[in-house]
Amino acid sequence: MKMNSNDISTDYHIHSTFSVDGQDTMEALGWRALALGFSEIAITEHAEWHPRGSGLFDADDYFTEIARCRALFAPQGLTLYSGVELGNPHEFARGASAFLAGYPFDVRIASLHWLYGHNIHDAACFAGREPLDVYADYFAALGHMAGDFSDIDVVAHFDRILWRGTLLGAGFQPQALEGVVRDALATIAWRGLALELNTRLLNNVPTWRPALTTMLRWFREEGGRRVVVNSDAHRVGQMGANFDLAAAVLHDAGLTPATLQPATALAF
Ligand SMILES: [Zn+2]
Ligand SMILES: [Zn+2]
Repeated sequence: MKMNSNDISTDYHIHSTFSVDGQDTMEALGWRALALGFSEIAITEHAEWHPRGSGLFDADDYFTEIARCRALFAPQGLTLYSGVELGNPHEFARGASAFLAGYPFDVRIASLHWLYGHNIHDAACFAGREPLDVYADYFAALGHMAGDFSDIDVVAHFDRILWRGTLLGAGFQPQALEGVVRDALATIAWRGLALELNTRLLNNVPTWRPALTTMLRWFREEGGRRVVVNSDAHRVGQMGANFDLAAAVLHDAGLTPATLQPATALAF
């Protein structure tokens, strides 16, 4: 029986200890998902090619462990999908394509983690630049990632640049960049990719929630329908966090939470 306080029983973006910054094992995440009433989750680990990134995880060991956990949780009604979070795959297309070709990942997430050679979570992204220019460059790059790299299913945390920007006091008025933001969202919609509403920081800085809602409305107006609500949890305590807020934001944007149907999922 579902125990969440909303209609969302999926989460396609969760990190286990196979990621350098993941705190809990795949099995521990599975037990927590069951307790929260989830029906399907994806365990998505970081894969980075940027020189400042964390590199790759041991995908052979990962697939051995996910097979064991699938067998453990399937009889209890929980589906575990395999997955990977690719950092800027459009800029490292050769490496990213080779990695994806080697393993049958169910859920392939693309994340814009790097801008101007800096991690988007770092203040260095904004140093010496007008915040509006940074936001414009970020959303333009997001559109390039969605348009240029083909082997992906989800565009993750598309609003993440607002976290550092807001901390720096650089409030974001999406109307000031409506053209460039709409272009990026239209590319995601046109490619048939799912847009992620990432809940990890959703309660952190309420001031950017109106901007997020506006951008989700634009995504719908540009033909986008598939928005997946994901926690991006790096430990069990973060799973399901702020899903009630996400449901409210989606409702305000005129959207409903989508589910993924990974092609490889038909095989099991
Ligand atoms: Zn990320
Ligand atoms: Zn992540």
